[in-house]
Amino acid sequence: MLKCSICRKEANSLLRVKHRKHGIIKICFECWEVEQGNQNLLHLEGGCGCCG
Ligand SMILES: [Zn+2]
Repeated sequence: MLKCSICRKEANSLLRVKHRKHGIIKICFECWEVEQGNQNLLHLEGGCGCCG
């Protein structure tokens, strides 16, 4: 199980994002919606997910 970096909830799959404050973290979809709404998410450069 993985844990969301924001709400600490355990989830089967998390979204890897670049957060304005926290840098590159993994968050659940609920937090993604909130953070996206707050415009706290930046675009990942490269975006391959393995070498960021
Ligand atoms: Zn979360």
